[in-house]
Amino acid sequence: MTHRIGIVGSGPSGFFSAEHILRMCEECEVDMFERYFDPFGLVRKGVAPDSPKIREVTRAFDNIAKNPRFAYFGNVEVGRDISISEMLIFYDAIILACGMETSQRLGIPGEDLPGSYTANSIVGWYNCHPVYRSLDIHLDGRKAIIIGMGNVSLDVARILLRRVDQLKPTDISNEAIEKLEKSNIEEIYIVGRRGPAQAKFKENELLTLKELSDVDLMVKEDELILNEASKKEMKDNPSIERIVTFFERLRNVRRKNSKVINFLFYRTPIRVNGRGKVEEVIFEKNNLVGEPYNQKTEGTGIIDTIPCDMVVASIGYRGNVLPGIPFDERRGIIPNEKGRVIKNGNILERIYVAGWIKRGPVGLIGHNRADSLETVSCLLEDLPKLEKCTLRNREEVIRFLHNKNIRYITYSDWKVIDEYEQYQGKLEGKIRKRVCSIEEVWEILGKSKNCYT
Ligand code: NAP
Repeated sequence: MTHRIGIVGSGPSGFFSAEHILRMCEECEVDMFERYFDPFGLVRKGVAPDSPKIREVTRAFDNIAKNPRFAYFGNVEVGRDISISEMLIFYDAIILACGMETSQRLGIPGEDLPGSYTANSIVGWYNCHPVYRSLDIHLDGRKAIIIGMGNVSLDVARILLRRVDQLKPTDISNEAIEKLEKSNIEEIYIVGRRGPAQAKFKENELLTLKELSDVDLMVKEDELILNEASKKEMKDNPSIERIVTFFERLRNVRRKNSKVINFLFYRTPIRVNGRGKVEEVIFEKNNLVGEPYNQKTEGTGIIDTIPCDMVVASIGYRGNVLPGIPFDERRGIIPNEKGRVIKNGNILERIYVAGWIKRGPVGLIGHNRADSLETVSCLLEDLPKLEKCTLRNREEVIRFLHNKNIRYITYSDWKVIDEYEQYQGKLEGKIRKRVCSIEEVWEILGKSKNCYT
């Protein structure tokens, strides 16, 4: 008997889950649901456009989608177009691989002043995300502060300061290019609440800043002081040592360019000030206390005020609540044990999680492969014992969507868009020219019988 599995979300954890299921269970069929028309989640809407190599993983996803036991339903939002309980009529089990779409908030006064942005919105803006592509971003000031020391901060800093002629050939949105061409931003402070040994940057990602030949990277000597616990962290862990060394090499750098990225450590943001728009951020300086690898900040009472024209909070992501599914408000994830969803201390049968919504917003794209394997292994172990869905045929799902007048995108539709984007990109000397709106999608699909290439 065929088993029917539904996956919610088409990012890496969704595709890796599909891959494992199709490989490990020959009787399983997989239907994937995606709220946007385009697949790949953060690979398409999160990765910085100047890192095209990272996006190459989509070729592997294309291969997974070629399996006849796989189907893609784009432009279908679970929770709006189809509920979880409706999905359980069509699927023996569901994997929620819906990632994290909401930014963590600083929770400080002034956070909502004009000129204050979340990294998520800026990343969406340059990646043509339907929600953020028209972000009203003002780049007329000179100084920006980015709060948080993770790889997303580096992506945002790079895109804001990279020469526009280097960005134009990428698949960055044309709206972003238009604004970046007029940008006056030339000084960025990347500010962390802990020290260089605790920064979450990956060494490779820090090294990408060196590609910005007209930008100086700077850090002052007294930012680099390490306490005994941090010295131990550095001594025990070569990757931490390499990060600290990266910063130590910057301390004697003399400023020669007008553009600069300054790294500031040991500062917690306590307020954003401004009359009608962001004008400065007030930080309290910190000491670190606690055991190595578990050091927390302790305020010193010393205040540091940094004037700026814009501020970006880049302090991580959290998941969205799905009706009927438990949610851990503190961690922003769906509570689970190895991918089995837990509600009030019990396993919620037939519902599983994979990816960031399962473990939190950490790890690179490849980490999702092992994470999805854990979830899929649990699901396949449970499958013989699970209650079966009643409508056991893909045609039933299609009928349901038609009856509700939901116009969905198949994977072949997506491939038409994909080819169109690449063709249009070629005409403009870009890797691809993004299709950003569903209206554009319908128009292209209407025309798709004509040949673009
Ligand atoms: P992240 O790596 O978790 O970094 C978040 C930063 O925000 C940390 O420095 C954290 O400091 C700080 N922070 C959190 N709450 C704060 C608060 N209330 N006030 C001040 N600072 C605060 O998050 P991310 O940069 O969003 O990245 C998410 C994941 O995507 C990571 O695994 C990252 O490696 C991955 N990613 C990878 C790439 C790539 O490989 N090219 C690119 C982008 C993202 P504490 O350490 O003190 O908590």
